[in-house]
Amino acid sequence: AKRWGKGGYAVFDQQMHLRAVKRLHLEIELRQAIELKEFLLYYQPIVSLSTGYLTGFEALIRWQHPKKGLISPVEFIPIAEETGLIVPMGKWITQQACRQLKLWQEQYNLKNPLQISVNLSSKQLRNSHLIEEIDEILAQTGIDPSSLKLEITESMLMENVDIAMNILIELRKRNIELCLDDFGTGYSSLSYLHRFPVTTVKIDRSFVMQMQPGNSNAEIVHAIITLAHSLEMTVTAEGVETQLQLQQLQWLECEQAQGYFFSKPLPPKEAGTLIQAFPCW
Ligand code: C2E
Ligand code: CA
Ligand code: CA
Ligand code: CA
Repeated sequence: AKRWGKGGYAVFDQQMHLRAVKRLHLEIELRQAIELKEFLLYYQPIVSLSTGYLTGFEALIRWQHPKKGLISPVEFIPIAEETGLIVPMGKWITQQACRQLKLWQEQYNLKNPLQISVNLSSKQLRNSHLIEEIDEILAQTGIDPSSLKLEITESMLMENVDIAMNILIELRKRNIELCLDDFGTGYSSLSYLHRFPVTTVKIDRSFVMQMQPGNSNAEIVHAIITLAHSLEMTVTAEGVETQLQLQQLQWLECEQAQGYFFSKPLPPKEAGTLIQAFPCW
């Protein structure tokens, strides 16, 4: 392959090498970070569009790196997935999120049952111990299974249809809620995905953010909501940043929304104080 001697290939090799080293370094750091408990969960409110009440929070992981500061999950979740570290990490995430929900339930006299949404990764959905782990977490924390909502993506379902289907059925037997995340970004249709027992569809923020009255993104959002409702699923819109987007979604009878318009993801303490700020209109 070194036909051109010291030319393009050598440079390319060097870049590949650098990237591999960087990745390896990140993997080592990630393993240490688990030991050192450098991860924390942020929580972003999810709001009912009919009442303005808070319906729950989505838990979103952050890495508090001692030198580099707060690191986004986009940077390390893919590596955690490739290395399998996501499995123990994912268990910790679910545990932590359920504990936090329990704390809030005890701390605030909540009129409405609050839900906690947790993102799963595809490795977790193929882990034979997932159900056991979740049963254990529910028993430990004593939260109602219907207040736990697991977010999965279409590609996760497609990777291993039969195994995924069986796990989802088990989760639904327990009355755990299932949300189809990032909807609209994949290739399958909602009528196909409906064969999986999901209860909520979350419209990807790329559609919501580019929605203008009458444009094609608004049409797509409209179509997703109509179809989801005909399949008896509820709809959550993510990435709501403006009042206009909020009004359009209300007009389309979307049930719930999430986005910077309401709040960014926040550390637990700040998210907790926000509980009392709702209903927001
Ligand atoms: P996601 O599940 O689609 O999460 C939504 C992302 O959109 C979050 O980014 C959130 O901060 C961001 N977001 C929320 N509202 C707005 C808005 O109004 N405008 C804009 N521009 N962005 C908004 P984040 O926290 O960086 O997470 C990125 C992705 O990392 C998540 O996408 C999810 O795929 C993954 N992730 C995060 N936490 C976890 C976790 O605990 N487990 C797993 N497996 N994946 C996670
Ligand atoms: Ca999500
Ligand atoms: Ca999403
Ligand atoms: Ca996403």
